Amino acid sequence: MWLPCLIWAGSEGRLKAGLCCLGWLCLLTSTLSWAAPPERQVLSQQPWYYQWGDVSAASVHTDNQNWQSLTFPANPPDRNGEAFLWLKTTLPTHHFQEPVIYITSVDLTIAAYLDGQKIYQFGEVTADSAPQFIGWPWHEIPLPPDAAGKTLTLKIFSDYTEIGLWGDIWLTERSDLHLHLIRDGFDELLIAGFLLLLGITALIFAFMRRENGGFFYLGCFALVTAGNLLGESQLLQLIASAPLLKVYLAAMCYFLTPVFIAMLLSHWCQRSDQWAFRTLALIHVLFLSIALGLSLSGLVNLSIFYPAFDLLFIVTCILMTGLALHHYRQYKFEQRMVMLAFFIYAAFLFADMLIAHGFTPWVDFPLALGALLFALIVSMVSLSHFKQLQTALERMNNDLESHVMARTAELQGYVDREMERSQQLLRINEFSLRLEQLIGKMQQCNEVQTATRLVCEGIHEVFKPWVFRAQPVGTLSRSERPQGRHHRIVVIDDLQGHKVPHLIISNDERLTQDQESAQVISGFMNRVTERLGITLSSIRLRENLQKMSFEDALTGLKNRRYLDDALPREYQLAQRYQQPLSVMMCDIDFFKNFNDTFGHEAGDMALRSVATQMLEHFRETDIPCRYGGEEFVVLMPGASAQAAYNRARDLLLKIAARKISYQGRDLAALTLSIGIACWRGVGDLPEDLLLQADKTLYRAKMAGRNCIEMAVFPPSESDH
Ligand code: GH3
Ligand code: MG
Ligand code: MG
Repeated sequence: MWLPCLIWAGSEGRLKAGLCCLGWLCLLTSTLSWAAPPERQVLSQQPWYYQWGDVSAASVHTDNQNWQSLTFPANPPDRNGEAFLWLKTTLPTHHFQEPVIYITSVDLTIAAYLDGQKIYQFGEVTADSAPQFIGWPWHEIPLPPDAAGKTLTLKIFSDYTEIGLWGDIWLTERSDLHLHLIRDGFDELLIAGFLLLLGITALIFAFMRRENGGFFYLGCFALVTAGNLLGESQLLQLIASAPLLKVYLAAMCYFLTPVFIAMLLSHWCQRSDQWAFRTLALIHVLFLSIALGLSLSGLVNLSIFYPAFDLLFIVTCILMTGLALHHYRQYKFEQRMVMLAFFIYAAFLFADMLIAHGFTPWVDFPLALGALLFALIVSMVSLSHFKQLQTALERMNNDLESHVMARTAELQGYVDREMERSQQLLRINEFSLRLEQLIGKMQQCNEVQTATRLVCEGIHEVFKPWVFRAQPVGTLSRSERPQGRHHRIVVIDDLQGHKVPHLIISNDERLTQDQESAQVISGFMNRVTERLGITLSSIRLRENLQKMSFEDALTGLKNRRYLDDALPREYQLAQRYQQPLSVMMCDIDFFKNFNDTFGHEAGDMALRSVATQMLEHFRETDIPCRYGGEEFVVLMPGASAQAAYNRARDLLLKIAARKISYQGRDLAALTLSIGIACWRGVGDLPEDLLLQADKTLYRAKMAGRNCIEMAVFPPSESDH
């Protein structure tokens, strides 16, 4: 019955199903409990007589004076600590075939006499031997068939608070009695079995779920209640009579009942009240330990712990009720249900104790039903709570799962981006290596133009597989310049630090979607343009310095150092190809006067003007140099004496014809004196043509200036 209930617990109608079961069980047990009793003579309604004391059986049966009448054969007045009680009644005249006396319970030992003849004994009743507690079974005292109308005398011993007979005291047919006991005990066994099943199921559930809260205590409660029922079951005595064992089982389970009630309530109560419930449980555990320890060691009879326990139990129930009511308003529906179930059960317990201690007339009170009701309500609530927890847990799990999935996707995104970035970094590292190789090649160039060409040709290789191209800015018209992604390489063009855009590096495709990778690439491209710019600038600087060392800064002509380099080279070429070589040395006449007259700046202007005219005048293969001051030397490879002379003559005419203009006004014209030394290309090369030219110049000066003097090697008359 419990199992289907448990299965249905997950369904919508779990409460309905539980209530159905409960109703069905109540109906069944009550039907059985209220089944008609057997045909019987109720002896408790007979007139009874009693007398106190351990009087001998023989004297009791002959004595007719000391007997006093009694309405019910238990707890007669004026006990005064007496442990022995004699009871007497006359059996009704009703005839039974196999008559027996049935007594539900006796405190504690009993000996029965019929007309003075001992017919039954349970436990020791003599004062000599130490009284021994041997349990509380029900009693069946067999009678002879002719017992009707005879006197029944009972000797009872009890060192317990109660003394006498309890429950039903019947004269009945033996078979009817057994049938009645079977019928009457069946409902108890049914409830005990049900509670056993419930207890085991709840414990298994608690262990499976690894929780030791509600289900664990519920299981324990159901088991001890079932144990108590079995221990007190009358039906079991028919099968096996072990009264002491049954009493110990019943006592242990009974004494444990408040422990698990308190623990159950502590599980369901307000957190702040838990300690109080647990303390009560602990007190009962202590009580049980003391009771078991003392009774098992034989020091005290177990029976005497019952009144103390009942008192403690009542106090515990009152305290627990108080605690439950204290926070009742704050409780949720489930907690209220548990507390209500406890209140009902507490009422059952209270009523049962009133009956057990003789405060109310004896009735067969269904305490088991109270326990069953309590256990069922708590299990329904526990299952409903468990279901709610499961649902909440499932929802949390789903939430967690979706969170984890979202987080995983996010992390995967990070991983992808990191992968791409590391790939970009690897690629960029490769590019850097190739760039360094290109820069190495560039540094070997003497001219920026050559280095620029290398960049334009090699940039494609550097950025492979990306497609980059480099174009010199000068070669692009405004419309041809790339509009999209491009990088300018700026070169420091002169010694004053002027910067000019030199190259444009561009690519047409989008290199990455990732913003961070794009930043890495852009950072790298900045480094590329910077490195290329610096390299080209350093080449340009070298170029400038080179130029400066061979060029005269004022006139732009080659300087004397260049002449010193060029002259031996021209000698060798002239010798190898046997071509004539002329060296022409020119000196401005009276230049000191010019300076003095027009100023030094005008003199500089005049020097530049002469140099420009010389550059225009001579052939490209001729090399006009400023030799120093106002002296110029022109190397004329391949120029014969005649050709050199003609050039010199024309130069004199040109110079003399042009007035030097300075600050918008024309100054005086200048004249030159020229000395030419010419080697014909055959015969021995004179040792120093330059010196020879200087000598001939001197001759020209001597000859009156503004004229040409020549020396030809080897000399020949026809040359003039
Ligand atoms: P001569 O006809 O004998 O050559 O007379 P000269 O005055 O030309 O010769 P001199 O050697 O006496 O003077 C050369 C002058 O040239 C002296 C110097 O002031 C001038 N001179 C030399 N170099 C420069 C220059 O770079 N700039 C200017 N303005 N004058 C220079
Ligand atoms: Mg001079
Ligand atoms: Mg001069």
